[in-house]
This record gives sequence, C-alpha cells and structure tokens, in this order.
Amino acid sequence: MAKPALPDYNFQQATLDFLSKGPKQLFINNEWVAAQSGQTFETRNPATGEVLAEVSLAGEADVDAAVAAAAAAFPGWRDTIAAERGALLFKLADLIDQHADALAELETLDNGKPIRVARRGDLPYVTKHLRYQAGWADKIEGSTVPVTFPNQFVYTRREPLGVVGAIIPWNFPLLMAIWKLGPALAAGNTIILKPAEQTPLTALYLADLIVEAGFPPGVVNILTGPGLPTGAAMAAHHGIAKLAFTGSTAVGAKIMEAAATSNLKPVSLELGGKSPNVIFADADLNAAVRGAQWAVFSTAGQECVAGTRLFVERAVYDQVLDGLKQNVEKMVVDHGFAEKVHVGPLITDEQLSRVMSYIDEGKQGGAEIITGGERLGNGHANGNFLTPAVFSYEDDSLKMVQEEIFGPVAAVTAFDDWDELIERANATMYGLAAGVWTKDVARAHHYAHAIQAGTVWINGYGMIDPAAPFGGYKMSGFGREMGKEAINLYTQVKTVWVNTSD
Ligand code: ADP
Repeated sequence: MAKPALPDYNFQQATLDFLSKGPKQLFINNEWVAAQSGQTFETRNPATGEVLAEVSLAGEADVDAAVAAAAAAFPGWRDTIAAERGALLFKLADLIDQHADALAELETLDNGKPIRVARRGDLPYVTKHLRYQAGWADKIEGSTVPVTFPNQFVYTRREPLGVVGAIIPWNFPLLMAIWKLGPALAAGNTIILKPAEQTPLTALYLADLIVEAGFPPGVVNILTGPGLPTGAAMAAHHGIAKLAFTGSTAVGAKIMEAAATSNLKPVSLELGGKSPNVIFADADLNAAVRGAQWAVFSTAGQECVAGTRLFVERAVYDQVLDGLKQNVEKMVVDHGFAEKVHVGPLITDEQLSRVMSYIDEGKQGGAEIITGGERLGNGHANGNFLTPAVFSYEDDSLKMVQEEIFGPVAAVTAFDDWDELIERANATMYGLAAGVWTKDVARAHHYAHAIQAGTVWINGYGMIDPAAPFGGYKMSGFGREMGKEAINLYTQVKTVWVNTSD
C-alpha cells in the first residue's frame, strides 16, 4: 500500500513508524500472524476519507486460533500470583503513558476526535482506569459463610471465568479496550479483544506494548475485523466463557442471542442511550447551558451518554434556547488536528447520512431547527463534517426524539410540571444516563430517584471515573463497568464446604 496521506501536523516519529509498517496483522500468542481468511479491510481517516492502513480481517479459523491461544494461557495466568498480574498491568499503564502522544495521534487520525481531546481526555483516562483495575488484582476476596449446619466451614472464592471475548465500538477506541482489558486481566481471565473495524489502530499499537510489558503469550489476543464475520464468530464461540460488549442495542441483542444458543456464556452489555438532561428555572443558567451544550456536542454527539434530550422549565425556555444557540454557533467544526477545533467529523459517511436523515425527519415532523445541521463544504467536503444542530420540539413521538442518533443533534423541549417531566423523561427504551440542573437539593435527589437511568449527574454532566460504577437500565444494557462492580463482571463465585466434624 502507498504511504497514507497525513494532515499537515508535526507527528511523533512513533506514529509515522507505526503507519509505515505495512498491512496490519492479527495479534495471537504475542505474535503478529497473517489472517487465515486471507482477507483484509481498510481503515480510513474520517476527516479526509483517505485510507490510513490495510488491516487483516479475522475469519472463523482465526477466531478459533485466538481462542486456542487464550485457552492455553488461561491456567498459567489464573494461577499467577495476583500481585504479579497487577504489576504487569501497572507496567502496561507506564508504557501507555510513555507512548501517549503517538496513541493520541493515532486515535485522532482513525476516529477524528480533536487531538486535544484525545491527548487530555482519552489517554490520561486510559491509564487512570488501568491503574485502578490493576490495584484490584490482589484484592479480590471471598467470604466465610455462617451456614445452618454444625461442623461445616463454608467459604467462597471469586474465580475468573476463562477466555473473555471483548467487542468494542469506535467512539473511544483505546479507552473501551482498557475498560474491558483491565478488570478481565486483573481478575485472572485471558482475553480476545476485537476493536471496531472503523478504528483498529490504537488496539494494534497497544499489542506491542503488551509484549514489552512482559505479558505471557496468549493472555491478550487482538483480532481485527467487522461484526460479520469476526464479532459474530466470537459471540457464538463455545470456547469463549464470557462476552463483554459495548455498542448499539441492536447488536447487543444479537450477541445475547448468539450467547444463548451457543454455550450460554454470560454477557455484559453497555448499549445505546437517549439521555434526558433537565434544566429547572432556579438553576445557574450559565453553567446549565454550557453543561447542556457539552453534554450533547462533545465527540460530535458520538457518545452513548450524550444528553440528547434537553428538558427546560418553560419559564426559562426562551432564555436557555437562545443561550444554547449562541454557544453552539461559536463551536468550531474542523478536522482533529486543526489549531482550534471543538467538533470533529462523524466517523463514516454512512453515519453522516444516518444523522442527516434524522435531521430531515425532525424538520418534516414539525420540529424547529434553531441552528446547525449543515454539512461543511470548502475543503471539508471529503470529510464527514456536520455543524451541531439544535432543535426545538414538542412531539415526543418523533424518531429524532426517540432513537439514538449518535451525532451532533440536540432535541430541546419545554416542560410545565414535575409529573409531566418525569413521565416524558422516562418515556424511552433507553436508560443509560440523565442530568439535572437545579439549586434545590431535595428536588435534585427526587429526580435522581425517579429517573430510570444507570447514572445521574446533578449540576454537571458526563463525568466518568474508574471508581464509579457505570452501565445501563432498560435497553441500555446490564452489568456495571468500573469500580469493584467491574471485577464482579469478570469473576464467578465458587462455594466450598469443609466438613470439620471428627
Ligand atoms: P456502533 O453503532 O457504535 O458502530 P455497533 O454495535 O454496530 O456499534 O458496533 C460495535 C461493535 O460490535 C463493533 O466492534 C462491531 O464490529 C461489532 N459488531 C457489529 N455487528 C456484530 C455482530 N453481529 N456480532 C458481533 N459483533 C458485532
């Protein structure tokens, strides 16, 4: 393949070296191997449409090979002293820190997000999360159980499950990889990671750091390829003991079905969202408007927790809408390496068309477009750029209001009273996250209790922390990542009975 065309930017040598190393292969048993499928696919820069790399496409036989490697590595890794597993994860975090600039550049090239966001947001959070989970490795405890029988000593052990399959999306490629990898490895599982086909590069870069850190062969395996055949082969594989998935609700349902009809492997699903964000009239309106703006438009709305439905108390509706319009119109839409950029491109042209179709549906369905929703021309026509769109609407049945768009589209509406607010805010199949802005502490807590969502932010939006459990209600999925809950996701409980009578 010819060298990829890169934007005018002072790239790290490591980034250039990585990109110039020819077709990317599969990472199995700590080695780079050609795909048995003989197939490859291309990953592209969403800001320009240009090909960044040619990548191996893992077929069923490749999934078999990775499962065999991970299964062979499992007993040794499970029985490794827990603190040593943790030490390797800490070492990996140090290596990621050393390579953070190159990893951030690759993330921006492959995903499109502003380099500032990749460098100051994604990368520091990757290592924070990894270190937090590394710390759990030697703190996974069982308990002793006071049973009703005499002379029985009963205790529990938390044991790893075996080979974990992890299938992740393209919006936070390296971060999602680490969310899965950290707790799975800390708990003593081995893993097969499949990055999204749109953004495989940082996971592949990570593979070399895994070798350098000293992980034994087969503990981490990385397979690249699309949902079909690669992801589907993993979900249906009898040798995979658990499947961890982050992505769309539709694919989550397929994964659960494949798990059910193969070996009944447990799944954890972190799926879509259509999160309500509420501004009461008594809120600090400047903060609330700024918060609402970033809640939906950070990462161009390509974020599962995006606060895409904004409910505003009627008394301040016009004021909030006006403030939002002014703020949003100041947001710079450009490629991720531009000097000033707030909103990067959408991930693919298909995604751009999808988002545009929701915008058209909103307009035709009677919602009023307040600003944005236009494609960028002038030197940006080959990229998937869209200006942030703000709608004012009344009809909750619009698809634009009900469905996850995964693009820069905010749907803003007025509410009059509490019961109406809670009913409308909960009238969605999703339940990932919610926000509320008010100075009334009691009302904020009432809202947090009434809303059906796995995370609620009061006077803030979008904070995520390695220690704070994260996951969905309703069709946003189940299982909690982060915190100790993440360790529970990657372990199973064994109860041991010891007869202590003579
Ligand atoms: P998004 O809408 O964020 O692209 P998807 O749910 O389509 O989310 O994709 C998330 C991940 O799921 C990707 O790694 C993708 O390759 C994978 N995937 C897509 N379809 C399937 C499938 N049928 N089985 C398993 N994995 C799949």
